[in-house]
Amino acid sequence: MESMKTIVEQIDFRQMNMDIITRAGEILRAGGLVAFPTETVYGLGADALNEQAAKKIYAAKGRPSDNPLIVHIADMEAIGRIAEAVPEKARAAAEAFWPGPLTMIFQKTGEVPMGTTGGLNTVAVRMPDHNAARALIRAGGGYIAAPSANTSGRPSPTTAQHVEEDLNGKIDMILDGGAVEIGVESTILDMTAKPPMILRPGAVTREMLEELIGEVAVDKTVIDAGSHAAPKAPGMKYRHYAPKAELTVVEGSISRTVDEIIRLTGEKIAEGFKVGIIATEETVGRYSMGEVKCIGARGEEETIASRLYGILREFDGIGIDYIYSEAFGREGIGSAVMNRLLKAAGQRIIDAGGK
Ligand code: AMP
Ligand code: MG
Repeated sequence: MESMKTIVEQIDFRQMNMDIITRAGEILRAGGLVAFPTETVYGLGADALNEQAAKKIYAAKGRPSDNPLIVHIADMEAIGRIAEAVPEKARAAAEAFWPGPLTMIFQKTGEVPMGTTGGLNTVAVRMPDHNAARALIRAGGGYIAAPSANTSGRPSPTTAQHVEEDLNGKIDMILDGGAVEIGVESTILDMTAKPPMILRPGAVTREMLEELIGEVAVDKTVIDAGSHAAPKAPGMKYRHYAPKAELTVVEGSISRTVDEIIRLTGEKIAEGFKVGIIATEETVGRYSMGEVKCIGARGEEETIASRLYGILREFDGIGIDYIYSEAFGREGIGSAVMNRLLKAAGQRIIDAGGK
C-alpha cells in the first residue's frame, strides 16, 4: 500500500477543538480515513455511504472483506436513512443506552453500500458516547463507518499511540483524545432476530437489556468457547484481539491458579523463553519470575476492561513469547472481558482446580 503522511492532532473534548474537527470532517467527506477516540476503543472512520471510502478501511487494517463495519451516527434522526425499520424494542434500547456502548443490527436501506456491510442486507448502527466523536460524525456527513483502529487481528487500540503503532503512514489523520474510558468494544445486539440476540458482549449487559426489553438471547459461540457453529457476527470468527505471544488463561481457586501459573512460567523460562504474567492486586506479590503486570483488583471488572488491551500490547513491545493470565470475574462487563481474553488466547484455558 502507498505510504502517506499521517497527521496527528491532540483534541480535548472539554474544549471541542472545532477547527481540527472541521478539518477532519473535510477529510472524511473527501473519502479519506480519520482515526478518533470513542468511549469504547479508538475507531477508524470513513464515510459509510461512500463505498470507495469504506473499502479503504479494509485495506488499511488488512481486514477480511466479509467482516462488516459498524455505522456510527450522532443523532437519532439519522437512523431512518440507513435502517429499513426500527422496531419498538430498538427505540427503547436506543433511548436508554444511546449515546453509549451498544450497537444494534437492522435491515439496511439501499443507501448503505454492500462494501460497508460486507455484502450483508443488514447494517450495524451505534451512537458513541464521546462528544468529539459525535462532533466528528456530524462534520463528516453524519454516517461514519468505524471499526476498531488496529491492524486486523491485533488487540484493539485504547490510546492514540496504539493507533499510530498499527496505522501510521496508512491513514490521513489521527485525533488523539487520550486513553479511552471503557476499553472493550460495544455490545452487538441483533434486532432482526426474535428474540433480539447478543452477538458480542460489551459494557451493556444481557441483564441490563432484559430489564428493559424482555427476553434477549446470546449467540451460542459467545457462551460456548468450544462451539463449532459459525458466529452470527462475521468478525467474531477470526482470531482476534490477539497479542503476538501465545496466551493461556488459567482458572480455578486463587491459590491453585497462582501455583499453576508459577509452575508454567518456571517451565518456559527454563526453556529460554520470555514469559509475561497478567496478575491481580490480590496476587501480584506472589510472582517472582517473568514480566508481571497487575491489571487491577479482582471484582473491579471495569478497571480490568480498561487495561486489558494495553497490557497485551506492552507484552508485544518487549518481545514476550508466552503470556499466562489469571481468569477474571464475569460480573457486568466481566463477561465481555473474558470473551475477549479467551479469543485472544485462541480459547486456551487451563483449569487449575480448587473451585
Ligand atoms: P469492530 O468495529 O472492529 O469492533 O468490528 C465490528 C463487529 O461488528 C464485527 O464483529 C462485525 O462482524 C460485527 N458486525 C458489523 N455489522 C454486522 C452485521 N450487519 N451483522 C452482524 N455483525 C455485524
Ligand atoms: Mg475490531
